[in-house]
Amino acid sequence: MHASAEQFILALDQGTTSARAILFTRQGDIRGIAQQEITQHYPQPGWVEHDADEIWQAQLAVARAVLHDSKVAATQVAAVGITNQRETTVLWDKRSGEPLHRAIVWQDRRTAGFCETLIEDGDAEWFRAKTGLVVDAYFSGTKLKWLLDNIPDARRRAERGELAFGTIDSWLAWKLTGGRAHVTDPSNAARTLLYDIHRQDWDDELLAKLDIPPAVLPRLVASSAVVGDIDAAWLGAPIPLAGIAGDQQAATFGQTCLKPGMAKNTYGTGCFLLMHTGEQPMASHHQLLTTIGWQRQGHTTYLLEGSVFMGGATIQWLRDGLGLIASADQVEALAASVPDNGGVYLVPAHAGLGAPYWDPFARGALLGLSRGTTGAHIARAALEAIAFRSCEILHLMEQDAGGQLSELRVDGGASHNNLLLQFQADLLGVPVVRPKVTETTALGAAYLAGLAVGFWQDEAELSALWQSERRFEPGMPAERRAALFADWQRAVGRTLNWLTAD
Ligand code: ADP
Repeated sequence: MHASAEQFILALDQGTTSARAILFTRQGDIRGIAQQEITQHYPQPGWVEHDADEIWQAQLAVARAVLHDSKVAATQVAAVGITNQRETTVLWDKRSGEPLHRAIVWQDRRTAGFCETLIEDGDAEWFRAKTGLVVDAYFSGTKLKWLLDNIPDARRRAERGELAFGTIDSWLAWKLTGGRAHVTDPSNAARTLLYDIHRQDWDDELLAKLDIPPAVLPRLVASSAVVGDIDAAWLGAPIPLAGIAGDQQAATFGQTCLKPGMAKNTYGTGCFLLMHTGEQPMASHHQLLTTIGWQRQGHTTYLLEGSVFMGGATIQWLRDGLGLIASADQVEALAASVPDNGGVYLVPAHAGLGAPYWDPFARGALLGLSRGTTGAHIARAALEAIAFRSCEILHLMEQDAGGQLSELRVDGGASHNNLLLQFQADLLGVPVVRPKVTETTALGAAYLAGLAVGFWQDEAELSALWQSERRFEPGMPAERRAALFADWQRAVGRTLNWLTAD
């Protein structure tokens, strides 16, 4: 018998590179973590696949491992929440539970040509108005179409109701409930190009446009609601599955950005910025995405989302491309060894530039080099570039949302870098705050599940649990900030259209 009857929430965090399971206490602290890597398959250039069965087995293994290692019985788990890599697409046989194909991962570009046709046909604005998304191979709808077009007999079987489509949340919910629940939540549905974010339902016209039979779709459930019990065979007790949200939305919830105007930035490989905009979708005039954050108790929260392709990846490039550092955590000391950037700007347009430039033909550049330039200046310029790009997106969000940011909450691997966060605060002119629990994605899934079963009472209780580990106050005079920004923009200007200019 376990000495304590303390209860926990179990979050299953299924990311692009690993499956993780984290147990959270009522105080929102971590009791245990287990993690397992996922194999990446690259069958052709631009294609990325995962084995859906491997994902399920890894997720089950880490769930069991975290309970075992933490000496927590399944009966002590009040609820399970799922958070997942978004847009990754699975198609499986409802009777056998077998996937018909490897999952097509969000990064996969195989449907880019089809998306271009849609754009050339003038459909982009129509999609944007209904879905809040830009037409891009990133989202699940065209990946599902590809599976139905390319697997023999798949569309006919889908029409007869024999097949199930789902993003990773649906797939895991199906497996966990022993095939009883074929569901998804609005935060995931809103990333498919098949879902109308205003009516909050699958859309017949979108389905017709992409030639998707409705019978293949999961049932929509709230992000915070009991969907069913997990089969007792898996963890040893029938625990309620009570929360589902895509990873970035879950992280926003975990950061308790629960009021309009609150925002978070995750500094991972890329940066993901999300701002709470209230209960009405806010259209972006700058090609940012309008998406659903979460739905609970009949209320839907909308977010604006923007991303920076080269976030922490800029630091990886310093390490692997330039050999300037041996590991990412060395960049801070190197950058801090000089008082400023010495006039050096690194524009990380290695893969083109997203918002607000939207220039796939831009390429990266180092500008302002002089005889006095050292590796330390370049390291500093690289960190500053991450902050400049994030700042540009946040300014667009403020314009779209018609309000001003009061503080920025941060997480992700590069958020451990104090120099980066101080510069970010200086540039934005608002405090940047790093929480004690930086596993915000899993925490958000736990919060959504815990609210649904009364483990936590309400959002106010969650907001009170959120604790700052360190707060970076802006200290830079406004003129200096403006001058740096002007130089940054001049530097960006030199890189635009690089591949096409004569
Ligand atoms: P992901 O979830 O995208 O894999 P993580 O949140 O694990 O990313 O963050 C990893 C990224 O953070 C890498 O790109 C790495 O270069 C960067 N990174 C890690 N530590 C630091 C650091 N101390 N300073 C700057 N960047 C860092």
